[in-house]
Amino acid sequence: MIRAENVCFGYTRGKTVLNEVAFHLEPGGLTVLAGANGSGKSTLLLLLAGLFLPRSGRVLVGGDVVPGREKRVRRRTGLLLQESELQILGTTVGEDLLLGSDPNDPDSRRKAEDLASRLGLVQLWDSPVDSLSGGQRRKLCLASLLMARPEVLLFDEPFSGLDYPAVREFRRILADNAKQGITQIVATHDLEPALDLAGEMLLMDSGEIVGQGPPESLLDRAAEHGVRPPCLWQRERAGIQGLW
Ligand code: ADP
Repeated sequence: MIRAENVCFGYTRGKTVLNEVAFHLEPGGLTVLAGANGSGKSTLLLLLAGLFLPRSGRVLVGGDVVPGREKRVRRRTGLLLQESELQILGTTVGEDLLLGSDPNDPDSRRKAEDLASRLGLVQLWDSPVDSLSGGQRRKLCLASLLMARPEVLLFDEPFSGLDYPAVREFRRILADNAKQGITQIVATHDLEPALDLAGEMLLMDSGEIVGQGPPESLLDRAAEHGVRPPCLWQRERAGIQGLW
């Protein structure tokens, strides 16, 4: 579903931020993209979303090279930024959800209401977006992305700044997306809230993919690449029940 072929990228001449990044992900899974801050996770997501062109190499999503001109290619992938409030354009929850659609179209309205209900936003339909909490804003952005029925969702540090109940709710939403067959990548420096949901892990260090495989196969190497192995994993190894 997602293929990076020897992707190189830099923001400025002379500095390489992604170096020969190559990996392949099957459709439908949840992959955790782990790396320390500055390792290149956000940059990689921006390239996968088709917002930047690789300096060399290729990115393919669903068999199409991205960035792609066709609407179907552009709509295939949704990216939830870490600063998700930047993605909110409406003044109320309902308005934001319907921004890309005809608000008088009953199907769009129904779809938006269904998503608001699924993501626990239905009571907030008429609320001004300024009154939402950080977690509610992030859910609103995700709901807006889901309006386009993406096949791929990319999340940049989706748990940062969320309190415990909001993390649990976001985890539930990720698991629900997975059940619907959406291919998801969760970029994070903190493995704790994401790891047990993931079937695959990409480990990144200094602009390179230094490991790919089932998460448990890479955890022993996480620390040497600046990623703290999750307490959850250590607790479960010791037979202590998880936190989620
Ligand atoms: P991560 O998401 O893992 O924290 P980033 O992709 O944000 O990593 O950053 C990778 C490298 O690219 C860092 O050295 C960062 O300083 C640099 N970088 C990120 N964004 C920009 C930008 N807009 N202009 C120049 N350099 C950038």
